[in-house]
Amino acid sequence: MTRETIRVMKFGGTSVGDAACIRRAAEIVAAASSDAAVVAVVSAMGGVTNRLIEAAQSSVTGDRGPGVEIAEALGKQHRATIEDLVSNDDRRAKLVAEIEKIIEHVTGLCYGTALLRELTPRVLDEIVSTGERLSARLLASALCELGLKGVAVEATELIVTDNASGRAEPLMAQTRERATVRLLPLLEGDSVPVVTGFIGATAGGMLTTLGRGGSDYSATILGAALDATEVIIWTDVDGVLTADPRLVPEARTLREISYNEAAELAYFGAKVLHPKTLRPVSEAGIPVWIRNSFAPERPGTKITATGHPTARGVKAITAISGVSLITVGGRGMVGLPGVAGKTFTAVADAQANILLISQSSSENDICFIINSEDETRTVEKLREAFAFALAHHEVEHITVNPEIAIVAVVGERMRGMVGIAGRTFSALGRRGINIIAIAQGSSEYNVSFVVEASIVRDAVQTLHNEFGLQRPASRFESVPSETAVASL
Ligand code: ADP
Ligand code: ASP
Ligand code: MG
Repeated sequence: MTRETIRVMKFGGTSVGDAACIRRAAEIVAAASSDAAVVAVVSAMGGVTNRLIEAAQSSVTGDRGPGVEIAEALGKQHRATIEDLVSNDDRRAKLVAEIEKIIEHVTGLCYGTALLRELTPRVLDEIVSTGERLSARLLASALCELGLKGVAVEATELIVTDNASGRAEPLMAQTRERATVRLLPLLEGDSVPVVTGFIGATAGGMLTTLGRGGSDYSATILGAALDATEVIIWTDVDGVLTADPRLVPEARTLREISYNEAAELAYFGAKVLHPKTLRPVSEAGIPVWIRNSFAPERPGTKITATGHPTARGVKAITAISGVSLITVGGRGMVGLPGVAGKTFTAVADAQANILLISQSSSENDICFIINSEDETRTVEKLREAFAFALAHHEVEHITVNPEIAIVAVVGERMRGMVGIAGRTFSALGRRGINIIAIAQGSSEYNVSFVVEASIVRDAVQTLHNEFGLQRPASRFESVPSETAVASL
């Protein structure tokens, strides 16, 4: 075994969705560990994080019932999975006892929340972290069943973050120190650490989470901290596709894309990757693979510094739903200094992230897009900031349109290519699709625009067709998923 080779392998919620999936994940790890040291990172079993959020939110009403019921159901689900997964009696009994302790802990937190009728972000993080704490133990045991030394490791011991509950950022120097001290001896002893994804802790030990879908980020944080050879993200599709396969069934798997392209795609809605995933690894040039845990023989998508050279500028079409368009407008705004500054300061005060901005040159309005969950808070802050201007009709309205979606045409080689925006909007025009707002990032890696939510599928399909993304650009760039192996 070459110990210099370290692979970090992350398994998403569907890839550990039941006993059969966990067994398959364990087999993938076992195969990889024959010639490298492997660190596994796991998400909660599919759907579990959502249930935990529901438990937390229902408890805050003061009603203890739903939270306790959910905790019990999760206990039952994990016990049944263990029953199926672990044949050794001692190991099974020990694992069930550990699971029960974790379930008791979350039940206690729901009780406390109901009693106080208060749910702090810190307690919410404690509650939602339960899913990964359970699944890591299951995968570690599945590895033991295969004769490997699987060891569940809490990421609170490894990933040091700031104290921003629910959206914590890693502190890389401290993380590197803790991760190497804790994990390298395990790897040297031929163990396979199975780390809880999604979770970190402040230097003082307060548990934090990295945001929804954050296990991808956990994997690359650990990959960078350990100077891993590669990070492999195992999911339920063949790799990064030219569009979300739920919107465009004929979408193709991209063979190789650049960090920039992957980051842009993730930012503009390709759920297959958490938007921050590439940050920790891009500087060190550690390659990231996206692969299908249900079809491990397929090659997947490789993400590298350069991506694959190809004549095609447009790589993929993405869409983000669950967003709201906010417009600050009024004729009195023309020439009024500081409106943009005030607007964005108010949005920052509301801690909302702006996904897209557009201002018409007449200065009649500024519109921008945020996640719908931040909408109420943001509008409140805007009304406060513009109270005077609204009273004096300099700003006439602050309006919200929640029925919209952002669509983006993405590709690094679009940069400097003439005519992509033209083709995009002509194709949409021919199809009778109305554009509400347009933006192009200065990176020129994307052209993005806003449409009504009800026609997002049509818009994505139209552009996927327009740019011929269902066909490979070159022999190497993309492969249809079902023939991926044959073309290798
Ligand atoms: P995991 O649980 O493994 O983290 P996610 O559900 O978070 O998986 O992400 C995988 C899903 O992302 C796919 O099932 C697919 O529906 C969706 N997706 C959206 N856009 C893309 C894209 N461009 N390429 C691949 N998958 C995409
Ligand atoms: N379990 C967490 C979530 O559902 C993190 C993840 O799956 O990446 O958001
Ligand atoms: Mg995910």
